[in-house]
Amino acid sequence: MRRLAFSTPPGGPDSCIFCQIVSKKSPSSVVYEDDRYIGFLDIYPFSRGHTLVCPKEHGETIWDMEEADIAQLFQVASKVSKAVVAAVGADGFRFVQNNGEAANQVVAHVHVHVIPVKMEDRGRFVERRRFTSEEMEATARAIRKELA
Ligand SMILES: [Zn+2]
Repeated sequence: MRRLAFSTPPGGPDSCIFCQIVSKKSPSSVVYEDDRYIGFLDIYPFSRGHTLVCPKEHGETIWDMEEADIAQLFQVASKVSKAVVAAVGADGFRFVQNNGEAANQVVAHVHVHVIPVKMEDRGRFVERRRFTSEEMEATARAIRKELA
């Protein structure tokens, strides 16, 4: 697989937006956090509740992770998906996990998209949307409540 064109620049994780979210240097609507994984709302979501689940340790693609950690990443994503679906009243959800520029991976830090979907979205092309910061925070609060 070709390395990403935006491969982590010199300075390493300090210049990675997801590492900045992990270290709280950049704001985000966090819905889940433990010592090794974090879940936060995608700022440009496909649907209300679209969440990204990441390992806190920086790695570009899933190939940079230990196999046991890959398993744990998806266990966390599964737990988060139940809360997301309940919080937004979805009918199902997608996991999307892109690796490499050719796969449209936009941020070079491993992440799993948890995208809640409704029955009326079935077979439709769904576009990314913008929500106000108040709407984002209300959604994050509802997901956190389901995870509590
Ligand atoms: Zn990173």
